[in-house]
Amino acid sequence: MNKLDSAGHTIHFEANLAPLAEILESNKYSKIFVFVDRNTSELCLPQFQEMLGDFTGFDLIETDPGEENKSIDFCIGIWKTLLDFGADRKCLMINLGGGVITDMGGFVASTYKRGIDFINIPTTLLSQVDASVGGKTGIDVDNVKNMVGTFTLPQAVFIETSFLNTLPKRELLSGFAEMIKHGLIVDKDYYTELQGVDYEKIEAKAIYRSVEIKNDVVTEDPHEKGLRKILNYGHTIGHAIETYSLINDNAPLTHGEAIAIGMICEAFLSAKNNTLSNEELDNISSYILKLYPKYHIKEKSFDQLLEFMQSDKKNENGEIMFSLLSRIGACDFNCRVSKTDILDSFAYLN
Ligand code: NAD
Ligand code: ZN
Repeated sequence: MNKLDSAGHTIHFEANLAPLAEILESNKYSKIFVFVDRNTSELCLPQFQEMLGDFTGFDLIETDPGEENKSIDFCIGIWKTLLDFGADRKCLMINLGGGVITDMGGFVASTYKRGIDFINIPTTLLSQVDASVGGKTGIDVDNVKNMVGTFTLPQAVFIETSFLNTLPKRELLSGFAEMIKHGLIVDKDYYTELQGVDYEKIEAKAIYRSVEIKNDVVTEDPHEKGLRKILNYGHTIGHAIETYSLINDNAPLTHGEAIAIGMICEAFLSAKNNTLSNEELDNISSYILKLYPKYHIKEKSFDQLLEFMQSDKKNENGEIMFSLLSRIGACDFNCRVSKTDILDSFAYLN
């Protein structure tokens, strides 16, 4: 259980960064940059350096933490910093952080001088089981999540669960939502197993199973022509709720909290428009509500949420597309749903 081969790159699992040390020693790269946010600079960088034998041969690029910084303004700053450091096409960028760092760092690297190599070292549960794997890079534009980006695989991904030791509980719960999603869309046994797990004490083998599921799906359909869309289960509504919360709430929801709520709404839609049974719908919504804070959507906000959903990248010909469960452990994509049903799914939350 220490290596997963994916299309064009390797995901190293609990390898203590040893293969990275080899890459760095190979002198393949003219310069090494490590991209962090303020939190991962303080909490993860020392461990990263120690694992590599007190490694100091890099320049640090540090940004502010948070989704609101996953923007073109920050990218321009990073591109300029790379230029100031004299970075050529043979340099390497190591993204050490959560999904914001791996998404934005990957985007900057895949576009700087038409593309330099990058390596992801995810330090949140969410980025370990999801964001760092699969080659999607990107940034938000105005209120639209991941609006601009590329499909570019990192050279490698290193998953070290010891980085999670400093992660706040709320962030663990955020990543756990994607693990629940993995079970719901392809593996009923895994979903059932997770129901018996304390999310504060997740074992490496569960994280590995999630990475394996994500990797299998993206290897089969790297550019989201079809099957990969099942990974968007919970995200059509979840992304709209995430954006809504970012704008309207004093303490916005995390990505995973929003997706958890989205998964309840989309389970409702799966029961209405696909073959998910009412019993399974009850199981999913009561399990999620046991773990995640209840989120009340006011009726006057329904239109704004629909508006956000209109900008979803999965839409075709202006129609909102959903990935809906046919049962726990199986998911269909390109499902159409009426506006009334979507509104009913918001009301189902209340
Ligand atoms: P994040 O990067 O904002 O991290 C969450 C918080 O945890 C931040 O404050 C960060 O500084 C802090 N942090 C990171 N590592 C830490 C550690 N080890 N100890 C303590 N604090 C730490 O966000 P995230 O939740 O990791 O990821 C969410 C992002 O990922 C969203 O932008 C989402 O769109 C994106 N995403 C992308 C994909 C993809 O396929 N590319 C998939 C899922 C999610
Ligand atoms: Zn997600």
